Amino acid sequence: MYHSVSESSDGARHPYYMTNTTPSQFALQMQALKDSDCDIVPLKDVADARGASATGTRPRVAITFDDGYRDFLVHAFPVLARFGYAACVFLPTRYVGERTQTFNDRPCLTWSEVRELHAAGVEFGSHTVTHPQLYDVPAQILGAEVLDSKLEIEQRLGSEVASFSYPYAFPEHDAAFSKRLRSLLKRCGYRYGVSTIVGTITPADDAYFLPRLPVNLKDDAKLLEAKLAGGYDWVHSVQLATKHVKQTHRRLKWVAGR
Ligand SMILES: [Zn+2]
Repeated sequence: MYHSVSESSDGARHPYYMTNTTPSQFALQMQALKDSDCDIVPLKDVADARGASATGTRPRVAITFDDGYRDFLVHAFPVLARFGYAACVFLPTRYVGERTQTFNDRPCLTWSEVRELHAAGVEFGSHTVTHPQLYDVPAQILGAEVLDSKLEIEQRLGSEVASFSYPYAFPEHDAAFSKRLRSLLKRCGYRYGVSTIVGTITPADDAYFLPRLPVNLKDDAKLLEAKLAGGYDWVHSVQLATKHVKQTHRRLKWVAGR
C-alpha cells in the first residue's frame, strides 16, 4: 500500500504513520521485489488467489496506490514500467479534475493523465468521491460515495471499475457494518477491494476488504522482504485492539452525552 512517491514528507514522526516514499527508495523497493521469490501481479490475481498458498504457487504481490496523487505519474509509473509491474491506483474522484486539483496539499492526477495511464495498463479503482470515513456518514451518503465514484471513473475511462479501496481505518470490529458495506459494494458491481487492515492475505480474508502492507521511505530491501514474509502481520492485532478501545470510547462518550 503506497500513497505518495515524492520527496515531500507528510510530517508524520513515526514510521507507522508515514505515507510517502522517496523516488529513489521506491526504485530500490521495486528492485527488491524483483530479487524476491514473489510474482508481481495485477490486484485481481491476488484477490482471486486468496487460497493460492494451498496450490503451492509462488507468493503473489499486487502494488496499490491510494489517493490518486500526480506523483504516481511522475515518479512511480516510469519505474513500474521499467520493471513491467502492474499497479492499481485508487481515486477519490472529487479531487480528480480537468485541471490539477490538490488533496492533502498534494497535486492529484487529472482525467487526461488518468486516461493516459489507463491506456498504458494501469488499473484504476474507486477510493470514494470525497474520501470520508465511511463509518461515520449516513447510509444515503455512503451509497453515493461508493456508487458515484465508480460511475464517474467508468464514464471517463469507458471501462469497468472492479476495485474499491476503503479510506482511513477500516472498522473491522463492527461485523454488521462490514456485511452491509460488502453487500453494497457487490450490488454496485465491485468485485474486490482493499483496506488499511495490516497484513498479508490469507484464504480467510474478505475479497472486498483485503489487508495490505503499508510501505514508505523507511522500508529498505530487508524490511520489505520481512513484511512480505509475514513479519509485519503481528501489527494487525495491535491495530484491532486499538479499534476496540476507540469504539469503547465512542460508546462511553455517547452514553455520557445522553
Ligand atoms: Zn486515502
